[in-house]
Amino acid sequence: MNHEAQNPASALVLFSGGQDSATCLAWALERYARVETIGFAYGQLHAVEMTARQRVRSAMAVVKPEWAERLSEDHVVDLAGYGAVAESALTADRAIEITESGLPTTFVPGRNLVFLTVASALAWRRGIATLVGGMCETDYSGYPDCRRDTIDAQERALQLGLDTPMEIETPLMLLSKAETWALADQLGGEALVQMIREETHTCYRGDREHRHDWGYGCGTCPACDLRARGWQEWRGQGA
Ligand code: ZN
Repeated sequence: MNHEAQNPASALVLFSGGQDSATCLAWALERYARVETIGFAYGQLHAVEMTARQRVRSAMAVVKPEWAERLSEDHVVDLAGYGAVAESALTADRAIEITESGLPTTFVPGRNLVFLTVASALAWRRGIATLVGGMCETDYSGYPDCRRDTIDAQERALQLGLDTPMEIETPLMLLSKAETWALADQLGGEALVQMIREETHTCYRGDREHRHDWGYGCGTCPACDLRARGWQEWRGQGA
């Protein structure tokens, strides 16, 4: 496929099927006439994440009729080779804990750098000049590649390296998890909130057996803990 003329009305969302990227997808569907999604298979232990992607995409199209019209192709890129190099608690059978360096074992080195680079290559080919990602520096585990400083530097590198306009939008960058729920409510009302609660997958352990008021998950891993605390903060205790 040839490099197409850049279309400012289209965006490519890095989409994992989790709460954050689902909220980013809704955010993009409100703003762009055409929205494509990209997901990465990098040896996640949990196939549940890949099935959540399709479920959430289908459910998203039901929230608002105009979103159904705007939601366009999905792309899944196999990055198993990268996953093998960058082995972490997310890609290998390893305990979730904090290492001596202060980073959790769920840290996958270079993950967002690789994802954004691969996404930009696809965007370039498809004439898309905007990438949207759920990176967040406020309320997360301190992953250094989630910081806006890192994203700004990479945005610049991509613009130079591709010699084309390439923007990286990070609508959740400064939001707490409670504010991310509030943003979903603002974008798609209760229908979107309920869909994210029921269909998105966040749990590091891939648990979809245990249902909580904030959705499915083991309830004890750091991702479940963040999601639960954000929900409780937003809805209020016992809501
Ligand atoms: Zn969990």
